[in-house]
Amino acid sequence: MDDLSDLYAEVIMDHQRHPRNFGKLENFDREVQMTNSSCGDQISLQVKFENEKIKDLKFSGMGCAISMASASVMTEVMKGLSIEEARRFSDEFLEMVKAGKIPSDDLKDAKVFGGVYKYPMRVKCATLAWYALQKAIE
Ligand code: ZN
Repeated sequence: MDDLSDLYAEVIMDHQRHPRNFGKLENFDREVQMTNSSCGDQISLQVKFENEKIKDLKFSGMGCAISMASASVMTEVMKGLSIEEARRFSDEFLEMVKAGKIPSDDLKDAKVFGGVYKYPMRVKCATLAWYALQKAIE
């Protein structure tokens, strides 16, 4: 990730060192486990719904800095969103990371992953948690 700007690298490192919403929920409606075999990343995602919204979510697992930071950012972005918004935001994130499409400001910190599409080996790391979320809300 050499040519990511310093700011972006800093945000990613911060999320990796201090992951948000890391752990297990006591009550949840869906649990999704996913692995990225090309890197060894593993994630377990738990989601609690209420009134068609993501009331709470937590992830656990282990993996590289990109996968863990991406999962942390994903939980921050998704918390409190309606299912419909969550679907739209995750589509937007996936298009950004896979194809370099410029996202809207809705993605907040998740925009720091905008340069990942230039590193095909890293795309699966950055998208893992977002695919897990999509599976949880499908
Ligand atoms: Zn990885």
